[in-house]
Amino acid sequence: MTQKLPFVTLEQAQAIIADVPTPFHLYDEKGIRENARRVNAAFAWNKGFKEYFAVKATPNPYILKILQEEGCGVDCSSYTELLMSEACGFTGSDIMFSSNDTPVQDMQKAYELGAYINLDDLTHVEFLQQVAGIPKTICCRYNPGGVFDLGNGIMDNPGDAKYGMSEDQMAQAYTKLMALGAEEFGIHAFLASNTVTDEYYPKLAGILFRLAVRLHERTGAKIKFINLSGGVGIAYRPEQRSNDIAKIGEGVRKQYEEILVPAGLGDVALFTEMGRYMLAPYGGLVTTVLHEKHIYKEYIGVDACAANLMRPAMYGAYHHITVLGKESKPCDHKYDITGGLCENNDKFAIDRMLPKIDKGDVLFIHDTGAHGFSMGYNYNGKLRSAEVLLKEDGSHQLIRRAETPEDYFATFDFTPFFKKS
Ligand SMILES: *Cc1c(COP(=O)(O)O)cnc(C)c1O
Repeated sequence: MTQKLPFVTLEQAQAIIADVPTPFHLYDEKGIRENARRVNAAFAWNKGFKEYFAVKATPNPYILKILQEEGCGVDCSSYTELLMSEACGFTGSDIMFSSNDTPVQDMQKAYELGAYINLDDLTHVEFLQQVAGIPKTICCRYNPGGVFDLGNGIMDNPGDAKYGMSEDQMAQAYTKLMALGAEEFGIHAFLASNTVTDEYYPKLAGILFRLAVRLHERTGAKIKFINLSGGVGIAYRPEQRSNDIAKIGEGVRKQYEEILVPAGLGDVALFTEMGRYMLAPYGGLVTTVLHEKHIYKEYIGVDACAANLMRPAMYGAYHHITVLGKESKPCDHKYDITGGLCENNDKFAIDRMLPKIDKGDVLFIHDTGAHGFSMGYNYNGKLRSAEVLLKEDGSHQLIRRAETPEDYFATFDFTPFFKKS
């Protein structure tokens, strides 16, 4: 079993903690940049390639700026994500707007920014026309229905998913959009999540490339881009093998040359919309041990809780844990690692073998860089944590302060109880 090591040592963590108290999410700038460069290199064979980082995974302007410097755009799905992206200087074709059940205000903002709008349904053609207008370039989201099976135990269930439209609806949408002035089209689909295999993108690409050829023949629409969306997974568990993005890029290239090029569609740009793969391994939740408790099991209580990282409570997701400074100690103690919510699912780990833990130890919960902080909430009056960037030169920077009780009570500022003085 390969050891999974944090990107900080205990000494580095302690230097940060002296400045920013735990808990906080820590991000590794070097790791983020190197990974983004690997992604761009893997798809460099495609002239128009662009990764649109899924903002919902890590909505922090400092993180978005790093990715922008590495040539990425952003994928937004809501009004506030659009506002954050605008504040970071993303506009026009730097933005994919992949929303569903879309409010009027969100659609109007996306249109105003000149984003590539990805329509989730046939009825949204009329909706977009009524509330904003039909842009020259427009994308539609595809749902093939049925079961999507990668044949290696990894499958998902598009037939049960609320997203996208059928092939017939795609064709109808394109025809309608052309009549309303659209000139260039995109195709988008997201068929499986957190796929730890190099086969997902190539298989999805094959499906979407063939669909592109059929839609082009059927409607005459000019296909400008195909968006493979997100879903590329990471190795949360130490025994899992990480995806090889270079191999994934090559797999997609093969499909491109077999399907699109012979059909005369060799100028189609490829987009991706990864969140997890871009950020998850390059973030960790740093938390201090507050209590030890011995009842029917051994509990370690930390100062973070599920409100800071929801994935274990919500999906039973595995997040690896390192006791900083005890990396080489034997894992000969079995613990449940808990937060303080009044919910028994508030456990970062259950029956986890770890080195002997003492009060005051600092734990590093791995792979929280995506869908970590962002899924946070305020249950039990718990406050959202800070976010800290570990910079390439080894220094650190606060990139979001922790919430205070004043933030928590801010929405009562019109009442006599918490009036701003
Ligand atoms: C969530 C989401 C993504 C990113 O998914 P990851 O699993 O983080 O790669 C991309 N596109 C859309 C439309 C999404 O909803």
